[in-house]
Amino acid sequence: MKKKGLLLIISGPSGAGKGELVKRLRATAPEGFFAYSVSATTRAAREGERHGENYYFLTREEFESRIAQDGMLEYAEYCGNYYGTPKGEIEEKLANGVHVILEIEVQGAMNVKRRMPEAVAVMIAPPDYPNLERRLRGRGTNTEEDIQNRLAKAKEELSTLPSYDYLVINYDDMLDKAVQDVFDIIKVEQDSVKRNSGFVVDFYGK
Ligand code: 5GP
Repeated sequence: MKKKGLLLIISGPSGAGKGELVKRLRATAPEGFFAYSVSATTRAAREGERHGENYYFLTREEFESRIAQDGMLEYAEYCGNYYGTPKGEIEEKLANGVHVILEIEVQGAMNVKRRMPEAVAVMIAPPDYPNLERRLRGRGTNTEEDIQNRLAKAKEELSTLPSYDYLVINYDDMLDKAVQDVFDIIKVEQDSVKRNSGFVVDFYGK
């Protein structure tokens, strides 16, 4: 029986390290194990970011016209900009057994779960509040106001944890453990009976 890929939602507050985690996940997995869904956004590209690789950078008009054409699986407004997942080839990839990663914020995650309840939502979190504050200050690139905004936003985001399926704590200097935790979640989900309900019929070839 060919198993479908998982739609894997990864969320977490700024400072949780989800970007690094996703990068390491993709680098560790064998070729063709994951597909990364490139999001669309109306925010400006940061230095080094490339259109079509990090994001599809769109104007508000372009983004709104994609919404109107039902071209987004989900979208949300976050800090004054649109972010969304283009429908693209997600279904086809899942059918081919490829796991599709959506690195998205909490509103979008909940919208995806509503439309596709079989998606697996994982919250990535720092171990505790002082650690999060230390990480945000350690970046050295944010203003005090920005840090306070991110800390407040983190509280809001972490309060949505009950809507998620799994929590992965990203401890300092233990990224490999967090990565392994996500691989373990994939394994457990793929072997769950709810995802293998057709097994017996296939077994007898009926
Ligand atoms: P950033 O501007 O730092 O790249 O991303 C800001 C937030 O938007 C992050 O929490 C990121 O996970 C989220 N995000 C990125 N792409 C999408 C998307 O397609 N949909 C939603 N809902 N959120 C996204």
